[in-house]
Amino acid sequence: MRLRIAIVGLGTAGPAAALFLHRLGHDVIVFERVPDPGPVGAGIVVQPTGMTALARLGLLPQIIDAGERLDHLRGWTTGGRVVMDLTYAELHPGYFGLGLHRGDLFTALTDALRTDGVRVECGVGVASVEGRTLIGDDGRELGAFDLVVVADGARSELRGRSRLPKRATPYPYGALWFVAEDPDREFAGSLDQYYRGTQRMLGFLATGTTPTQDERTNLVSLFWSLPARAVDETRRRGLPAFREEVLSMSPRAEPVLDQIEDIDALLFAQYWDVRMPRWYDDGVLYIGDAAHAMSPQLGQGANLALYDSMVLADSLDGASDLKEAMRRYTRARRSHLRFYQMASRWLTPVFQSDLTPVGWMRDAFFGPFCQAPWVRGQMLRSLAGLKTGPFGAWPLSVTDAYLRALDGQVG
Ligand SMILES: Cc1cc2nc3c(=O)[nH]c(=O)nc-3n(C[C@H](O)[C@H](O)[C@H](O)COP(=O)(O)OP(=O)(O)OC[C@H]3O[C@@H](n4cnc5c(N)ncnc54)[C@H](O)[C@@H]3O)c2cc1C
Repeated sequence: MRLRIAIVGLGTAGPAAALFLHRLGHDVIVFERVPDPGPVGAGIVVQPTGMTALARLGLLPQIIDAGERLDHLRGWTTGGRVVMDLTYAELHPGYFGLGLHRGDLFTALTDALRTDGVRVECGVGVASVEGRTLIGDDGRELGAFDLVVVADGARSELRGRSRLPKRATPYPYGALWFVAEDPDREFAGSLDQYYRGTQRMLGFLATGTTPTQDERTNLVSLFWSLPARAVDETRRRGLPAFREEVLSMSPRAEPVLDQIEDIDALLFAQYWDVRMPRWYDDGVLYIGDAAHAMSPQLGQGANLALYDSMVLADSLDGASDLKEAMRRYTRARRSHLRFYQMASRWLTPVFQSDLTPVGWMRDAFFGPFCQAPWVRGQMLRSLAGLKTGPFGAWPLSVTDAYLRALDGQVG
């Protein structure tokens, strides 16, 4: 079966799916609304499951080279009480998270598309899908396809126009972020968080090197979680007040804050909770954030987008027809995606909400609770992207391609 496939969106899910599907022999074209998309964004985390998809694409060594190996996820109250302390290697000696500038992932994927000769049309937004025909923003027909893969992100307009049932709600909380240089590698090796109640969270994510690769300066992303309603007020109060508040949570922030020259250099990221009971209808499939955006509490956005792309290719490979392939895809993705959507919905208010008593309970019980071996194992599996339900998880063997690609460098 050789299909004519259109992919909408050149974020993470779009280019990864385009590479997988092109390499399976399908005729693929990608449409991206932004005329000149570049390596923008802040730090993201790719987990062992997402790295499995990158390994299958042959991109893992260069991605690991650009990123920062994260061995730990750690969290403290501002009073110094440990709330979270997870070490990937407890699950498998070869496991780690990869802190990465979103731009490095984008560059690796789009360079590979160029090398493979996949057609990418930038500056061409897709306004609607009629049957299996794409209509551009300018009303022009962009062609008819056997399969349309919609990967146009959390705010997907195409999802909004689809007849599939869906719900997209913004979380009341989001984060101001800034990417700073970390020449002395003060933040290397870990994702560190500091909590003050549930209303403030300060995070430092080691982010690898600069996305241009010209100079190999190490980066750290600072995340300052706050209610969306407080963003204007924070900007109005200005940089000195922001500095003071951040430093009161952790003096480690000083070298990062010193690089922020203007309060408007902090960008606000709003989080979305997207629910779609079904992702496929009559030749159109939704993947990545368009299908299941969630808060970044579990560090899974880019990870799940990469995994979707890999499973899509595996579902099409050897299927007798498209319907069978889409049934396979749905079966293969259902429990995994449902678990992460549910877990991030439950966990986000524990760290980012107005529920002050929840914060007290978290600070008192979360640390000791996480020490219980079974709980620890489940939390590490959640982090690694392996969970399929409250009590279920994939075996570690699903990440064999990742472990093999590390080629004895770790473990
Ligand atoms: C500019 C940008 C910066 C980001 N920065 C961060 C970050 O710093 N940290 C983080 O954790 N996550 C960030 N994200 C989100 C993160 O990349 C995604 O959660 C994750 O990688 C899933 O990717 P996705 O491909 O599903 O969606 P996205 O990465 O959001 O990609 C969607 C793509 O579709 C394009 N598009 C949208 N509508 C249309 C249309 N109608 N026609 C054609 N193209 C369309 C968009 O321009 C975009 O390129 C960012 C996303 C974007 C677009």
